[in-house]
Amino acid sequence: MIIPKTREEIELMRESALIVSKTLGMLASEVKPGVSTLHLDKLAEEFIRDHGAEPGFLGMYDFPNSLCMSPNAQVVHGIPNENPMEEGDIISIDCGAKKNGFYGDHAYTFAVGEIDPETKKLLQVTKESLYVGIREFKAGNRVGDVGFAIQQYTEKHGFGVVRELVGHGLGAKMHEDPEMPNYGRRGRGKKFIEGMVVAIEPMINAGTHKIKQLKDGWTILTADNRPSAHFEHDVALIEGKPELLSTFHYIYEALGITSDEEAEFRAQTINFHD
Ligand code: MG
Ligand code: MG
Repeated sequence: MIIPKTREEIELMRESALIVSKTLGMLASEVKPGVSTLHLDKLAEEFIRDHGAEPGFLGMYDFPNSLCMSPNAQVVHGIPNENPMEEGDIISIDCGAKKNGFYGDHAYTFAVGEIDPETKKLLQVTKESLYVGIREFKAGNRVGDVGFAIQQYTEKHGFGVVRELVGHGLGAKMHEDPEMPNYGRRGRGKKFIEGMVVAIEPMINAGTHKIKQLKDGWTILTADNRPSAHFEHDVALIEGKPELLSTFHYIYEALGITSDEEAEFRAQTINFHD
């Protein structure tokens, strides 16, 4: 059952989403060769707690850390470790935080130093597909419309859409109804309702859509060991339109990137430095 949120609840969810956004922004300048993912995990946990929130993933389904850190061929759910990141790697960082009883949950795939053009393309197309999907999250549409749009957009570039892992409703629980697959058929699935909040999160592989899992019971990898990218935003349906609760603003600020990609999904101007 989809649980719609009141405007007040959505503002609380925006607060949680912005803590995650700031955490990823803080990490952006720490992603570099020689740094371990476990070090970033510690930084993130401290940062989240300093902002009056709890890490969303730590202990959830017994996950051992605050961040899911998935380098290169890892799709999602990678466990932070002491291995240093290397020049040319990519690292998908998925972060959750809970404050005022509500979760924020979003993700960004970072380049570690210079990466090859093909992988750069994978990151760009996956991020673009996130917005292509968000654009379909509107009154009158259904779950399948978002998945269809993401699948069309990424497959035309020859990339593989992971089937087994999907986006989800978000709220007082990290995973609420509905499931939001990144593939689907137009006009199919549950109908979107005013006030609902979802995490839309394309997980896109350079090659095959097929995956495998490590013996650790968590880490998901591409079946062909080619790279995979993951971008995730938290989005509310307000007055029939998608409204972004999370932002990549802090990441772009840290990396010196100028982008207006989020502008069409904001009804109001957010002062990111309040
Ligand atoms: Mg996530
Ligand atoms: Mg999620």
